[in-house]
Amino acid sequence: MLKILIIFLLFFSSILIYKNSNFNKVIPDVVEIPPEVQKSIANTKPTKQIYIPILLYHYVEYVKDAGDTIRKSLNIIPAVFDAEVKTLKDKGYTFLTPKDLADILDDKSKLPERSVILSFDDGYRDFYTDVFPILKKYNAKAITYIVPNFLNKPNNMDVWQLKEIVKSGLVEIGAHTMNHAYLVGLPKKRVEYEVIQSKKYLEKQLGIQVVSFAYPYGAFDNQAINVVKDAGFKTAVTTIHGNLVMDINRYFIYRLRPGARVGESLIKLIEEKSFPKPGSPNVY
Ligand SMILES: [Zn+2]
Repeated sequence: MLKILIIFLLFFSSILIYKNSNFNKVIPDVVEIPPEVQKSIANTKPTKQIYIPILLYHYVEYVKDAGDTIRKSLNIIPAVFDAEVKTLKDKGYTFLTPKDLADILDDKSKLPERSVILSFDDGYRDFYTDVFPILKKYNAKAITYIVPNFLNKPNNMDVWQLKEIVKSGLVEIGAHTMNHAYLVGLPKKRVEYEVIQSKKYLEKQLGIQVVSFAYPYGAFDNQAINVVKDAGFKTAVTTIHGNLVMDINRYFIYRLRPGARVGESLIKLIEEKSFPKPGSPNVY
């Protein structure tokens, strides 16, 4: 009897350990253009090139659980975010969103002399509680890339909160797939579902047009690019380091991680021209 009980306990605990290890597994963000995409653009000369820093944020909050190292590594505290926005405002930066960037790429509007885009991935609840008040304080525009199946969960925004931030006119809503899917290596039908459905869901729920996309984990390939383009998105952002935007990379736009930089070090990061150099991994 005891033997059976021990075997049962061992079996059960191994399942628990397996589940936990999977849950905590951190999938690293993509930092280089995949070779097949590099190849497909190798002979295309860009007709348009502009430099525009798109800052990438996840959490902006005072992390309550000191042991939550993943969350802490993705977080900056609200006071730092406030100081970053103030730095940009004081330097005369115009806050755009990816929709504005698409208009600039399509020659529908001009790029202001100093422009910046604040982008937030995953639609965490602190966007509403901590970020939104700071955006209102400085009248700064931003984009939040939403994962519909994350909505209405304790850690994420509710639909009513999204509706409120849409109403402010300060925040563009972008799509980030239905389930935060790693799009590389998936069958085309599944990629189409994740991409198209996330656009349709947000448009229906919020009564808006959704034209901007972010790849979860920054992961993309030629198939993902084509699905995103065909779905009617006008831009797509990655996690590759850089601030160079061209017509040929509008479906894999680079971004910058500001971390806790404020003042001159933030300005240096965004004004330094940067883009991935073929062959050299862009680790930063
Ligand atoms: Zn994400």
